[in-house]
Amino acid sequence: MGVAGRSIYSSKRWERARFLTKRRDGFKCAQCGSRERLEVHHLRPVRERPDLAFDLVNLKTLCRACHAAETDKELGRAPNQAQSAWKSAVAELARPQRKDR
Ligand SMILES: [Zn+2]
Repeated sequence: MGVAGRSIYSSKRWERARFLTKRRDGFKCAQCGSRERLEVHHLRPVRERPDLAFDLVNLKTLCRACHAAETDKELGRAPNQAQSAWKSAVAELARPQRKDR
């Protein structure tokens, strides 16, 4: 099973599915509309649903940045924006005041 994920990405079938997905999505990122560095994302990961690996219903065109963010989310280490904004606000407050100038 471990090898399945890799062989999908090097197959002709994937090449075609990828092209069809991008064409369906108008060759732009489904998230932000960017046309740069487009990649094709599996909504259900291949390791979970290998049967949907080439199913256009399971595929979405994303730019590199959105794809990376999406993958982070999947792996459960999504940077929580509210939380990181809070953290930097706290860090700002916690910064010692400089009195020597
Ligand atoms: Zn994007």
